[in-house]
Amino acid sequence: MESNARLIVLGSRGSIPVCGTEFAVYGGGTTSFALAVDDQVVGFIDAGTGLMSWRSYGLQPAPSISVFFTHYHWDHIQGLSMLDLVWADDGSVMVRGPADPRSALTSVITPPWFPASLADAPGVRFERIAGSVELSGLTVTPFGVEHPQGAVGYRVDGPSSSVAVVTDHEAGSNVDASIIDVIRGVDALIHDGQYLPEEAVTHRGWGHSTWEDAVTAAVASGADRLILTSMDPRRTDDEVDAIVHTARRQFHATEAAYPGLSVSL
Ligand SMILES: [Zn+2]
Repeated sequence: MESNARLIVLGSRGSIPVCGTEFAVYGGGTTSFALAVDDQVVGFIDAGTGLMSWRSYGLQPAPSISVFFTHYHWDHIQGLSMLDLVWADDGSVMVRGPADPRSALTSVITPPWFPASLADAPGVRFERIAGSVELSGLTVTPFGVEHPQGAVGYRVDGPSSSVAVVTDHEAGSNVDASIIDVIRGVDALIHDGQYLPEEAVTHRGWGHSTWEDAVTAAVASGADRLILTSMDPRRTDDEVDAIVHTARRQFHATEAAYPGLSVSL
């Protein structure tokens, strides 16, 4: 069945936003994805700086929008402060995330770090996510991942297809198997590929995976398609291309996330 639901990559850079001609293809905006049905945004997964571009894809806001957070590190939250719907009197933004999203977000989107206080924003409500959420024909299911301070990933099942979003996850523990249990059989896997294998050795405990870890997860889950994300902020377009080229020797249907990439649901 042809579906009119899709996930659109808005930002895929890890850690901190970057700009410059060397990042023109894969972009410098940090992690954010839109969930759209009939060109209406019904949700976002994460609100990094990439969120700012959402209207440039011809998208309109649905009457209510959910923002699903994987966790609250800066590169996943900064875009929320500039989401106009949050500050609109008639806004209807439901923020969902692990632990205590209200405390985590209102404690940093507030003076002196930001000119207005998110706690006073009229358009936003908060809810700890505890299980699957139904959203305009999409089912969004959280699952735990391995990352400092804790984080989740999301599986999104649409009318005709499914995608798993694992933005920040350090592979190599028994958490890997529990993730695979949830994401098994997804059509597309968007997975942390921040490091080269040789870089991972000096970044243990930093909470990120290598492209090889992402390939392992794609194979184990049976995904048809692997989309690498959370690229290191120093990784140029040419270097990302080289990673994709190498990864395709192990998993042919590998690509890297870039702003505007659309995944049918
Ligand atoms: Zn993080």
